[in-house]
Amino acid sequence: MKKTIRDFELENKKVLIRVDFNVPMKDGVITDDTRIKESLPTIEYALEQHAKVILLSHLGRVKEEKDLEKNTLRPVAKYLSNLLNRNVIFVHKTRGEELEEAINSLQNGEVLLIENTRYEDLEGKCESKNDLELGKYWASLGDLYINDAFGTAHREHASNVGIASNLPSGIGFLIEKELKYLTPVVENPDRPFVVLLGGSKVSDKIGVINHLVELADYLLIGGGMAFTFLKSQGLEVGNSIVDEENLEYCKNLLKEYPDKIILPIDVVTGFSKEKANRTCFITDIKEDEIGFDIGPQTTKLFQQYLDLAKTIVWNGPVGVFEEKDYQHGTEELCRIISEKDALKIIGGGDSASAVKQFQYDKQMTHISTGGGASLEFLEGKTLPGIDCIEDQ
Ligand code: ADP
Ligand code: MG
Repeated sequence: MKKTIRDFELENKKVLIRVDFNVPMKDGVITDDTRIKESLPTIEYALEQHAKVILLSHLGRVKEEKDLEKNTLRPVAKYLSNLLNRNVIFVHKTRGEELEEAINSLQNGEVLLIENTRYEDLEGKCESKNDLELGKYWASLGDLYINDAFGTAHREHASNVGIASNLPSGIGFLIEKELKYLTPVVENPDRPFVVLLGGSKVSDKIGVINHLVELADYLLIGGGMAFTFLKSQGLEVGNSIVDEENLEYCKNLLKEYPDKIILPIDVVTGFSKEKANRTCFITDIKEDEIGFDIGPQTTKLFQQYLDLAKTIVWNGPVGVFEEKDYQHGTEELCRIISEKDALKIIGGGDSASAVKQFQYDKQMTHISTGGGASLEFLEGKTLPGIDCIEDQ
């Protein structure tokens, strides 16, 4: 068990909190504030405990000079200030005198946001390569470090691993919640444990498949990646997306787990993403057709397995849910899963968007906030941004 923010006396302390404010923006306007809102419990708790709160986050990527202004955290500071209903001091610097002075004059219960940690990537990628001096420097600005940025926990950066190596450390409420729901799934799931996988490519999900195929009782496979499995069985899949280099892998996996892996039996096809053509059995796909969604028989088949489940993990939409003609399968499975009396965990960025788009987010047990991080967690990997935190 990792130490959490609750394990520390915060009053009068300079608490460095690594949050995930990597929000989508258009022309300086925040288009989705989910990540900011999700960091509030930790920030508010620290303020209630009379800490001096110093926030660090990255935003986008900084490779060249012109990325700097585009990725400033200034609009986030303003937005956060409205949410917290108090002033947020913003320092447009990631190091130096101005920053140090602003931190040293912080009062208990005040909040300061440091500029985008990836400004340090411009020369020498110091943040992203976990430059040891940078981690040490940032650590010198505070008394204590709390990591609450789950979305970057799979990366070894100066603003997580670097700081944590130089200060007493704990996790915030957001990471605590992620661990609470995701840990049992990869260690000791309540059974039957049914995993639903989709998305476009097998290659993106090999790690997840390898880890979960062992653990799960059933692995239901939809989305674009189903076609590589189907083709590996000698079926005609037309122009559907196929990972040629993983055909052998899929074939072997099906041989090893013939009763565990459940593939689609029908599909919705089209010739382009604009318009669907027809629904047919997977044995009936024509050479020039593309499978873009699972068909209704497959939804029914998947439902039979989902009905048994005590734990459900879903990663990857089962069709091109961004297009109206191919969203039905994903939407139906959202509804079916939402109605189940089971532990329902959603991982992956697009899967989370789909569940929100179809408005079933409230009925899920947990929607993981970290796209890449939740995938790596489901692969059974240790995340460096969590591993670096002190144990209780
Ligand atoms: P997540 O972000 O939840 O891990 P992925 O990124 O793996 O999910 O997959 C999401 C993408 O997979 C979506 O953009 C969707 O359009 C695509 N996809 C799903 N089914 C198909 C299909 N049959 N053909 C091509 N792409 C598909
Ligand atoms: Mg994705």
